[in-house]
Amino acid sequence: MTSSEELFERARHLMPGGVNSPVRAFGSVGGTPRFMVSAKGPYLTDADGREYVDLVCSWGPALVGHAHPDVLAAVHAAVDRGLSFGASTPAEAELAAIVMERVSAVERLRMVSTGTEATMTAVRLARGFTGRNLIIKFAGCYHGHLDGLLAAAGSGLATLALPGSAGVTEATAAETLVLPYNDLAAVEAAFETHGPNIAAVITEAAPANMGVVEPGAGFNAALSRITGQHGALLILDEVLTGFRTGYAGYWGLTGGAEGTDAPFTPDLLTFGKVIGGGMPVAALGGRAEVMDYLAPVGPVYQAGTLSGNPIAMAAGVATLTAATPEVYAGIDKRSLELSGAVSAALGEAGVDHSIQRAGNLFSVAFGTSANGVHNYEDAQGQEAFRYAPFFHSMLDSGVYLPPSVFEAWFLSAAHDDAAMDRIYAALPAAAKAAAAA
Ligand code: PMP
Repeated sequence: MTSSEELFERARHLMPGGVNSPVRAFGSVGGTPRFMVSAKGPYLTDADGREYVDLVCSWGPALVGHAHPDVLAAVHAAVDRGLSFGASTPAEAELAAIVMERVSAVERLRMVSTGTEATMTAVRLARGFTGRNLIIKFAGCYHGHLDGLLAAAGSGLATLALPGSAGVTEATAAETLVLPYNDLAAVEAAFETHGPNIAAVITEAAPANMGVVEPGAGFNAALSRITGQHGALLILDEVLTGFRTGYAGYWGLTGGAEGTDAPFTPDLLTFGKVIGGGMPVAALGGRAEVMDYLAPVGPVYQAGTLSGNPIAMAAGVATLTAATPEVYAGIDKRSLELSGAVSAALGEAGVDHSIQRAGNLFSVAFGTSANGVHNYEDAQGQEAFRYAPFFHSMLDSGVYLPPSVFEAWFLSAAHDDAAMDRIYAALPAAAKAAAAA
C-alpha cells in the first residue's frame, strides 16, 4: 500500500468521501487521490515522496508559484504579529487599494473568505438594491455552492453528473432562471417575460467550470447593456479569472481597457483564489452606489469573523505585488506553448479534440473538433471517457492535472523550462492512452 492509499483509507472513515471538496476525490478519473505534503514553485510532493509538475495550482491561487519567497516572508512576518484580531487592520485597506488600482470598475470592496461568500453576498446585494427577486445564471457556470446557484452549475456537479443539489428548496430554485451560455436571444427573451422581476444576471467572466468556454465577442458587454436597460445588475464572477487571466482579470482583458471592441462596466465583480495567493480570501466590489447598500452603511447584511484576516491579507498583498505585467506575459506565452504541445500530441495519436481557450486559461475537450464547445450542452456531449486514461498516464509520468475534464489547466510564473519539458515528455504516452480509450 502506498502512503496515499493508507491516508485515503483513513480519511474515508473520517470525512464524507474522504475529502473536504468533492472533485479532490478523483470521482470521475478513478484511482486513489494523491495526498500532498508540500509544494514549491511548479512542483507538488505527495506523501510517498513523489514529485509532480502541478497544473492545478491549488485551482488557481498559486499564480506566482507555490511557496513564493516574498509571499512566505510576508506571511511569516504577519504570523509573528498574531493570527487574528477581530478588528480592522491596515493590511485590509492595502489589499483593497491594490485591487481598485488594477480594476477600475471597483469603487468599493468587501473582503470575505471564500468565493461562495462573495457571490452569495453579491446576489443578496443585487436583490436588496433592486428590490427584485429573480437571478439569471448560465448552465455550466459555477459560482460556489450557494443554494440558489447550484442548478446546472458545472464544476463538481458536472464531474458527478448531478443536475443540481438535494437540499435546495423548490422555492429557492424557482428564483433562478438558468439559460444556455452564449445565447443572447435567450437572455433578451427572459427579460421580455420577467424583466421587472430580474435583480441580476450573474456570469463567469469567462466560464472555466465546464471546461473553458470563451464568451462570444461582445457577449459580456451585451449582458451589461441588457441588464442596464431593464434596471437589473450585472455580476461578473472573476473568482477564477480575476488576477489570473491578466493584470485586471478577464474584464481588463476584454471589456475594461480603452479600445477593446466592447467596453462595459459591470455593476458588481467577485474575486477569489489569486487575490489570497493560497489563503482563504475572496471579495466583492463594484459601483459605490450599490456597494454602499451593504451593512453598516446600508440595509443588506453581511459579516465574517475572519473576514480580512491579517495573515490572509498579507498573502494577498504579497501575491498581487509579485504578479507583475511580466508575470502575465510569461504565463500567456507558456499557456500557448503548452496547449499547442497537447494538441500536437493528441493529433499525432489521432485523438479528435479541441483546445478550449479564454485568455491564458485553457482546457482540452475530446471529440469536439467540428464545432468546439460554446455551452454546457456541447461540454457534456464530448467524449469525456478519454480523459481518465489521459489523466492517469500524465499522473504516472509525474504531471498533476485537474482530476476532471470539466476543469481548466492552471499554470504559474514558476513553470520554467525544466517543468515544461517534463510535461512535454509525458504527453505522447498520455495521448496514446486517450486514443485507446
Ligand atoms: N466562482 C467561480 C467562477 C469559481 O470558479 C469558484 C470556485 N472554483 C467559486 C465561485 C467558488 O469559490 P470557493 O470555492 O472559494 O467558494
